[in-house]
Amino acid sequence: MSSGGDTIFGKIIRREIPAQIVHETEHVLAFRDISPVAPSHILVIPKKPISSVASAGPADRELLGELLLEAAEIARREGLEADGYRIVTNIGSFGGQTVPHLHLHIIGGRQCHWPPG
Ligand code: AMP
Repeated sequence: MSSGGDTIFGKIIRREIPAQIVHETEHVLAFRDISPVAPSHILVIPKKPISSVASAGPADRELLGELLLEAAEIARREGLEADGYRIVTNIGSFGGQTVPHLHLHIIGGRQCHWPPG
């Protein structure tokens, strides 16, 4: 399989389609959501094409840790830490997942509500 997998996010990783990239490391890419639901809405993804947290395995332990820590650092740099923000990952149909490539949503800049619906 080519780098990044066969989804729209794989195309972003390979720079085949444009995205507003805010951060990149060897293993992780972060870019602004194309349909933001808040003033700050950033997606943080592993470059490895894991379809969701449910498909991750023991070999991904370090990668998942990096993903979460990078998300917190990006949120800090985005100025979201003082007021707080939400990190969410959707899994499968009932979870509302539309792109089968693991991603963390960073949602900030407005009050979030609970339950999320
Ligand atoms: P989910 O519903 O959790 O799978 O989230 C997928 C997210 O990807 C949605 O919030 C979409 O708005 C976003 N999205 C889809 N295509 C793109 C794209 N080309 N660039 C940036 N974000 C995208």
